[in-house]
Amino acid sequence: MTRLDHRHRHLERIAEVRAGRVPEKVGYPIRVRETEVVRTAWIGDGLLRVTLGGPGTEGFEAHAPDEHVKLVFREPDGSLRLPEPNGTMLKWPRPAPTSREYTVRRYDPVAGEIDIDVAAHESGLASDWARGALPGSVVHVAGPPGGLIVPHAYDRYLLAGDITALPAIARWLEELPRDARGWVFAEVAGPGEEIALSAPDGFEVRWLHRGDRPAGTGDELARAVTGVEIPEGERVYVWAAGEAGQIKPLRRWVRDDLGLDRADHDITGYWKRGVADFDEDH
Ligand SMILES: Cc1cc2nc3c(=O)[nH]c(=O)nc-3n(C[C@H](O)[C@H](O)[C@H](O)COP(=O)(O)OP(=O)(O)OC[C@H]3O[C@@H](n4cnc5c(N)ncnc54)[C@H](O)[C@@H]3O)c2cc1C
Repeated sequence: MTRLDHRHRHLERIAEVRAGRVPEKVGYPIRVRETEVVRTAWIGDGLLRVTLGGPGTEGFEAHAPDEHVKLVFREPDGSLRLPEPNGTMLKWPRPAPTSREYTVRRYDPVAGEIDIDVAAHESGLASDWARGALPGSVVHVAGPPGGLIVPHAYDRYLLAGDITALPAIARWLEELPRDARGWVFAEVAGPGEEIALSAPDGFEVRWLHRGDRPAGTGDELARAVTGVEIPEGERVYVWAAGEAGQIKPLRRWVRDDLGLDRADHDITGYWKRGVADFDEDH
Protein backbone atom coordinates (compact mmCIF):
# COMPACT_ATOMS: atom_id res chain seq x y z
CA MET A 1 0.00 0.00 0.00
CA THR A 2 1.41 3.42 -0.89
CA ARG A 3 1.81 6.17 1.68
CA LEU A 4 -0.94 8.13 -0.04
CA ASP A 5 -3.40 5.23 0.28
CA HIS A 6 -2.67 4.94 3.96
CA ARG A 7 -3.17 8.64 4.50
CA HIS A 8 -6.44 8.52 2.67
CA ARG A 9 -7.65 5.62 4.79
CA HIS A 10 -7.23 7.22 8.20
CA LEU A 11 -8.69 10.52 6.98
CA GLU A 12 -11.74 8.63 5.73
CA ARG A 13 -12.06 6.80 9.03
CA ILE A 14 -11.84 10.08 10.96
CA ALA A 15 -14.66 11.54 8.85
CA GLU A 16 -16.79 8.40 9.37
CA VAL A 17 -16.34 8.37 13.13
CA ARG A 18 -16.95 12.11 13.39
CA ALA A 19 -20.24 11.72 11.50
CA GLY A 20 -21.31 8.70 13.58
CA ARG A 21 -22.48 8.25 17.17
CA VAL A 22 -19.65 6.45 18.97
CA PRO A 23 -16.15 7.87 19.65
CA GLU A 24 -13.19 5.89 18.39
CA LYS A 25 -9.42 6.18 18.58
CA VAL A 26 -8.00 6.55 15.09
CA GLY A 27 -4.26 6.19 14.55
CA TYR A 28 -2.30 8.39 12.15
CA PRO A 29 1.11 7.59 10.68
CA ILE A 30 3.49 8.64 13.44
CA ARG A 31 6.85 10.31 12.93
CA VAL A 32 9.56 12.07 14.84
CA ARG A 33 10.47 15.51 13.54
CA GLU A 34 13.24 17.99 14.09
CA THR A 35 11.66 21.40 14.60
CA GLU A 36 12.91 24.75 15.73
CA VAL A 37 11.47 27.37 18.01
CA VAL A 38 10.08 30.27 15.94
CA ARG A 39 8.86 32.42 18.83
CA THR A 40 7.31 32.26 22.29
CA ALA A 41 4.44 34.33 23.67
CA TRP A 42 2.49 34.42 26.91
CA ILE A 43 -1.16 33.41 26.67
CA GLY A 44 -2.42 34.87 29.90
CA ASP A 45 -0.10 34.73 32.91
CA GLY A 46 0.14 30.96 33.05
CA LEU A 47 0.68 29.51 29.59
CA LEU A 48 3.71 30.04 27.44
CA ARG A 49 2.99 29.40 23.77
CA VAL A 50 5.98 27.89 22.00
CA THR A 51 5.61 28.06 18.23
CA LEU A 52 7.64 25.45 16.39
CA GLY A 53 8.52 25.59 12.71
CA GLY A 54 11.06 24.57 10.12
CA PRO A 55 11.02 22.00 7.31
CA GLY A 56 10.49 19.20 9.84
CA THR A 57 6.90 20.28 10.43
CA GLU A 58 5.90 19.49 6.84
CA GLY A 59 3.16 16.87 6.61
CA PHE A 60 2.36 17.09 10.34
CA GLU A 61 -1.16 15.91 11.09
CA ALA A 62 -3.66 17.23 13.62
CA HIS A 63 -7.22 15.95 13.79
CA ALA A 64 -8.43 15.64 17.38
CA PRO A 65 -8.72 18.43 19.98
CA ASP A 66 -6.76 16.60 22.68
CA GLU A 67 -4.13 14.85 20.59
CA HIS A 68 -0.64 15.10 22.00
CA VAL A 69 2.97 14.98 20.96
CA LYS A 70 6.04 14.06 22.94
CA LEU A 71 8.74 16.69 23.11
CA VAL A 72 12.01 14.76 23.25
CA PHE A 73 14.80 16.41 25.23
CA ARG A 74 18.51 15.75 25.55
CA GLU A 75 19.59 13.43 28.35
CA PRO A 76 21.44 14.90 31.34
CA ASP A 77 24.75 13.81 29.70
CA GLY A 78 23.91 15.88 26.60
CA SER A 79 23.12 12.94 24.34
CA LEU A 80 19.97 12.85 22.24
CA ARG A 81 18.19 9.52 21.91
CA LEU A 82 15.36 9.52 19.41
CA PRO A 83 12.76 6.92 18.48
CA GLU A 84 13.28 5.32 15.08
CA PRO A 85 10.72 5.20 12.28
CA ASN A 86 9.21 1.75 11.95
CA GLY A 87 6.70 1.75 9.10
CA THR A 88 3.87 4.03 10.20
CA MET A 89 4.94 3.69 13.86
CA LEU A 90 7.93 4.62 15.99
CA LYS A 91 10.26 2.22 17.77
CA TRP A 92 11.29 3.74 21.11
CA PRO A 93 14.69 2.95 22.64
CA ARG A 94 14.81 1.47 26.16
CA PRO A 95 15.06 3.05 28.63
CA ALA A 96 12.69 5.65 27.19
CA PRO A 97 14.29 8.94 26.17
CA THR A 98 13.59 12.00 28.30
CA SER A 99 10.34 13.44 27.01
CA ARG A 100 7.15 15.22 28.09
CA GLU A 101 3.66 15.12 26.58
CA TYR A 102 1.92 18.24 25.27
CA THR A 103 -1.31 18.95 23.42
CA VAL A 104 -1.13 20.17 19.86
CA ARG A 105 -2.81 23.53 20.33
CA ARG A 106 -2.63 24.47 16.64
CA TYR A 107 -1.11 23.24 13.42
CA ASP A 108 -0.98 25.62 10.50
CA PRO A 109 0.13 23.75 7.36
CA VAL A 110 0.47 26.97 5.35
CA ALA A 111 2.78 28.72 7.80
CA GLY A 112 4.37 25.38 8.74
CA GLU A 113 3.84 26.06 12.43
CA ILE A 114 2.89 23.98 15.45
CA ASP A 115 1.80 25.72 18.67
CA ILE A 116 2.36 24.08 22.04
CA ASP A 117 0.99 25.87 25.13
CA VAL A 118 3.13 25.02 28.14
CA ALA A 119 1.97 25.69 31.70
CA ALA A 120 4.81 27.62 33.30
CA HIS A 121 4.85 25.98 36.71
CA GLU A 122 7.40 26.27 39.49
CA SER A 123 10.02 23.87 38.24
CA GLY A 124 10.07 21.12 35.66
CA LEU A 125 12.19 20.14 32.69
CA ALA A 126 9.68 21.15 30.01
CA SER A 127 8.36 24.17 31.85
CA ASP A 128 11.92 25.47 32.38
CA TRP A 129 12.73 24.73 28.73
CA ALA A 130 9.72 26.75 27.53
CA ARG A 131 10.67 29.74 29.70
CA GLY A 132 14.16 29.76 28.24
CA ALA A 133 13.34 28.71 24.66
CA LEU A 134 15.07 30.96 22.14
CA PRO A 135 14.16 31.31 18.47
CA GLY A 136 16.23 28.90 16.41
CA SER A 137 16.73 26.34 19.16
CA VAL A 138 15.98 22.79 18.09
CA VAL A 139 13.47 20.42 19.66
CA HIS A 140 12.30 17.02 18.49
CA VAL A 141 8.60 16.28 18.32
CA ALA A 142 7.24 12.72 18.21
CA GLY A 143 3.64 12.08 17.24
CA PRO A 144 0.80 12.57 17.50
CA PRO A 145 0.15 8.83 17.51
CA GLY A 146 -3.51 9.38 16.64
CA GLY A 147 -6.48 10.84 18.36
CA LEU A 148 -9.78 10.03 19.97
CA ILE A 149 -12.34 11.18 17.43
CA VAL A 150 -15.57 12.20 19.14
CA PRO A 151 -18.71 12.58 17.03
CA HIS A 152 -20.48 15.91 17.00
CA ALA A 153 -23.80 14.18 17.66
CA TYR A 154 -23.94 14.52 21.46
CA ASP A 155 -26.62 16.78 22.96
CA ARG A 156 -24.06 18.32 25.32
CA TYR A 157 -20.34 18.31 26.02
CA LEU A 158 -18.85 18.82 29.45
CA LEU A 159 -15.19 19.90 29.32
CA ALA A 160 -13.24 20.30 32.54
CA GLY A 161 -9.70 20.66 33.78
CA ASP A 162 -6.87 22.82 35.02
CA ILE A 163 -4.41 24.96 33.08
CA THR A 164 -2.80 21.90 31.45
CA ALA A 165 -6.21 21.01 29.97
CA LEU A 166 -6.82 24.51 28.57
CA PRO A 167 -5.04 23.94 25.22
CA ALA A 168 -7.29 20.94 24.54
CA ILE A 169 -10.40 22.69 25.83
CA ALA A 170 -9.64 25.70 23.59
CA ARG A 171 -9.38 23.37 20.59
CA TRP A 172 -12.53 21.49 21.55
CA LEU A 173 -14.46 24.76 21.58
CA GLU A 174 -13.02 25.91 18.26
CA GLU A 175 -13.70 22.61 16.53
CA LEU A 176 -17.21 21.82 17.78
CA PRO A 177 -20.11 22.97 15.57
CA ARG A 178 -21.34 26.46 16.43
CA ASP A 179 -24.69 25.04 17.62
CA ALA A 180 -23.04 22.65 20.10
CA ARG A 181 -24.05 23.04 23.76
CA GLY A 182 -22.37 22.29 27.03
CA TRP A 183 -20.25 23.44 29.92
CA VAL A 184 -16.62 24.32 30.55
CA PHE A 185 -15.11 24.23 34.05
CA ALA A 186 -11.56 25.50 34.15
CA GLU A 187 -9.50 25.90 37.30
CA VAL A 188 -6.74 28.52 37.18
CA ALA A 189 -4.88 30.51 39.84
CA GLY A 190 -6.77 33.72 39.16
CA PRO A 191 -8.20 36.03 36.48
CA GLY A 192 -4.74 36.57 34.97
CA GLU A 193 -4.53 32.93 33.93
CA GLU A 194 -7.86 32.95 32.08
CA ILE A 195 -7.53 32.74 28.30
CA ALA A 196 -9.84 33.73 25.47
CA LEU A 197 -12.01 30.80 24.41
CA SER A 198 -14.11 30.62 21.22
CA ALA A 199 -17.01 28.88 22.88
CA PRO A 200 -20.20 28.32 20.90
CA ASP A 201 -23.10 30.39 22.31
CA GLY A 202 -24.67 27.29 23.86
CA PHE A 203 -21.73 26.83 26.23
CA GLU A 204 -21.55 28.03 29.80
CA VAL A 205 -17.93 28.76 30.71
CA ARG A 206 -17.11 28.77 34.41
CA TRP A 207 -13.64 29.86 35.60
CA LEU A 208 -12.69 28.65 39.06
CA HIS A 209 -10.04 30.71 40.85
CA ARG A 210 -7.73 28.75 43.09
CA GLY A 211 -6.12 31.74 44.73
CA ASP A 212 -3.16 30.83 46.95
CA ARG A 213 -4.01 27.14 47.02
CA PRO A 214 -1.22 25.17 45.24
CA ALA A 215 -2.02 23.82 41.75
CA GLY A 216 -3.51 20.34 41.82
CA THR A 217 -4.96 20.59 45.33
CA GLY A 218 -8.50 21.02 46.58
CA ASP A 219 -11.83 19.65 45.43
CA GLU A 220 -13.41 22.80 44.01
CA LEU A 221 -13.14 21.63 40.40
CA ALA A 222 -14.71 18.24 41.12
CA ARG A 223 -17.45 19.84 43.23
CA ALA A 224 -18.32 22.33 40.50
CA VAL A 225 -18.41 19.67 37.78
CA THR A 226 -20.47 17.20 39.76
CA GLY A 227 -22.97 19.96 40.58
CA VAL A 228 -24.04 20.15 36.95
CA GLU A 229 -27.57 19.09 36.13
CA ILE A 230 -27.75 17.14 32.90
CA PRO A 231 -31.18 17.60 31.35
CA GLU A 232 -33.20 14.38 31.45
CA GLY A 233 -32.81 12.18 28.37
CA GLU A 234 -29.89 14.12 26.89
CA ARG A 235 -26.78 12.38 25.64
CA VAL A 236 -23.67 13.93 27.16
CA TYR A 237 -19.97 13.51 26.51
CA VAL A 238 -17.59 14.25 29.41
CA TRP A 239 -13.94 15.18 28.82
CA ALA A 240 -11.68 16.05 31.74
CA ALA A 241 -7.94 16.32 32.30
CA GLY A 242 -5.65 17.74 34.95
CA GLU A 243 -3.88 16.71 38.13
CA ALA A 244 -4.49 12.99 38.61
CA GLY A 245 -5.84 13.16 42.17
CA GLN A 246 -8.00 16.20 41.52
CA ILE A 247 -9.92 14.71 38.64
CA LYS A 248 -10.20 11.21 40.13
CA PRO A 249 -13.65 11.77 41.72
CA LEU A 250 -15.02 12.51 38.25
CA ARG A 251 -14.47 8.91 37.16
CA ARG A 252 -16.87 7.59 39.76
CA TRP A 253 -19.35 10.39 39.03
CA VAL A 254 -19.61 9.63 35.31
CA ARG A 255 -19.92 5.92 36.02
CA ASP A 256 -22.15 5.76 39.09
CA ASP A 257 -24.14 8.99 39.01
CA LEU A 258 -24.41 9.72 35.30
CA GLY A 259 -24.34 6.05 34.26
CA LEU A 260 -22.33 6.89 31.15
CA ASP A 261 -21.01 4.18 28.88
CA ARG A 262 -17.22 3.83 28.77
CA ALA A 263 -17.20 5.41 25.30
CA ASP A 264 -19.02 8.54 26.46
CA HIS A 265 -16.28 9.96 28.62
CA ASP A 266 -12.54 10.50 28.61
CA ILE A 267 -10.93 11.47 31.92
CA THR A 268 -7.13 11.63 31.98
CA GLY A 269 -4.55 12.49 34.61
CA TYR A 270 -2.17 14.87 32.82
CA TRP A 271 0.24 15.29 35.75
CA LYS A 272 0.56 14.28 39.38
CA ARG A 273 1.74 16.39 42.27
CA GLY A 274 5.27 15.48 43.34
CA VAL A 275 5.86 13.15 40.37
CA ALA A 276 8.10 14.18 37.47
CA ASP A 277 7.23 12.81 34.02
CA PHE A 278 3.97 11.29 35.29
CA ASP A 279 2.45 8.69 33.00
CA GLU A 280 -1.02 7.51 33.91
CA ASP A 281 -0.62 4.28 31.93
CA HIS A 282 2.41 3.02 33.85
C1 LIG B 1 -1.92 13.78 26.86
C2 LIG B 1 -1.31 14.92 27.67
C3 LIG B 1 -1.41 16.23 27.20
C4 LIG B 1 -0.88 17.28 27.94
N1 LIG B 1 -0.97 18.56 27.44
C5 LIG B 1 -0.43 19.59 28.13
C6 LIG B 1 -0.46 20.92 27.62
O1 LIG B 1 -0.95 21.17 26.50
N2 LIG B 1 0.08 21.91 28.37
C7 LIG B 1 0.66 21.67 29.59
O2 LIG B 1 1.14 22.61 30.23
N3 LIG B 1 0.72 20.42 30.10
C8 LIG B 1 0.21 19.38 29.39
N4 LIG B 1 0.28 18.10 29.90
C9 LIG B 1 0.89 17.93 31.24
C10 LIG B 1 2.42 17.90 31.19
O3 LIG B 1 2.85 16.81 30.38
C11 LIG B 1 2.94 17.73 32.64
O4 LIG B 1 2.54 18.82 33.42
C12 LIG B 1 4.43 17.52 32.71
O5 LIG B 1 4.74 16.89 33.93
C13 LIG B 1 5.22 18.82 32.62
O6 LIG B 1 6.57 18.49 32.55
P1 LIG B 1 7.72 19.29 33.33
O7 LIG B 1 8.99 18.75 32.77
O8 LIG B 1 7.47 20.76 33.26
O9 LIG B 1 7.56 18.85 34.84
P2 LIG B 1 8.03 17.39 35.49
O10 LIG B 1 9.54 17.34 35.36
O11 LIG B 1 7.24 16.34 34.81
O12 LIG B 1 7.61 17.59 36.95
C14 LIG B 1 8.38 18.30 37.94
C15 LIG B 1 7.49 18.68 39.12
O13 LIG B 1 6.53 19.61 38.68
C16 LIG B 1 5.20 19.16 39.01
N5 LIG B 1 4.31 19.57 37.90
C17 LIG B 1 4.18 19.03 36.65
N6 LIG B 1 3.28 19.71 35.93
C18 LIG B 1 2.80 20.70 36.73
C19 LIG B 1 1.85 21.73 36.55
N7 LIG B 1 1.20 21.91 35.39
N8 LIG B 1 1.63 22.56 37.58
C20 LIG B 1 2.27 22.43 38.77
N9 LIG B 1 3.19 21.46 39.01
C21 LIG B 1 3.46 20.61 38.00
C22 LIG B 1 5.33 17.64 39.15
O14 LIG B 1 4.33 17.15 40.03
C23 LIG B 1 6.72 17.49 39.70
O15 LIG B 1 6.71 17.64 41.11
C24 LIG B 1 -0.24 17.03 29.18
C25 LIG B 1 -0.13 15.71 29.64
C26 LIG B 1 -0.66 14.66 28.90
C27 LIG B 1 -0.53 13.25 29.42
